[in-house]
Amino acid sequence: MYATDSDELQAARAQLVSYSARLLDDGLAVGRAGNMSVRVGDVVAITPSGISYADMRPADVCLLTLAGTEFPAGPEFPDGTELPAGTAPGNQETPSTETPMHLAIYAATSARAVVHTHSPEVIALSASREELPAIHYAITGLGGPVRVAPYVRFGSAGLAAAAVHALDGRQAVILRNHGAVTYGRDLAQAYERAVLLEWLARTYRLALSYGEPAILSDEALDEVAAETSRRRYGERRGGRS
Ligand SMILES: [Zn+2]
Repeated sequence: MYATDSDELQAARAQLVSYSARLLDDGLAVGRAGNMSVRVGDVVAITPSGISYADMRPADVCLLTLAGTEFPAGPEFPDGTELPAGTAPGNQETPSTETPMHLAIYAATSARAVVHTHSPEVIALSASREELPAIHYAITGLGGPVRVAPYVRFGSAGLAAAAVHALDGRQAVILRNHGAVTYGRDLAQAYERAVLLEWLARTYRLALSYGEPAILSDEALDEVAAETSRRRYGERRGGRS
């Protein structure tokens, strides 16, 4: 069990506030759109709904228990139980409307942080494409070509199920006519992937303006992934701390 006032959770709440501000600065969302969360043990710290990023304080970040360890959706769909009042002093906020999607991703993957954006390039792509193809080898950082999940209403269990399904073998998914979701081993990595995804979508749109772009083959992507992990292994062996 994790104490709800643990240093780790307090740090997660502060980090969520600072990354939420970056979401607007980096053009990944407007207004109060987008949301993000961090998992600490069986507790999920998630941004509140209906509060502007400018006004958000660490104490406003909501804490939920991660109920259920298995996905798929259905009656067993995992939903969050809010921690009892008093465990998060002064917190009167309502958790993000996309809480079901965040919890489903934690249940189905190794995610330790989830970032949901309403970034314009991926939304534009989602309206007319089934996936973001491999226009650049950096897409291996997201697990490969990124699928577009079918449209389902925001905040619904159906959207959570569609996102998890399209995430299979990937660390990013595009939500049709809605936005995108990325996850990572921590908030920094999940956020970095959201920025990368938006950059890849923009790059693809630019490439389309010249005609039909060349797309990297699965073999080429496998080679990049193998080389990336070989170099990481070499760095570790080289004694980098
Ligand atoms: Zn959304």
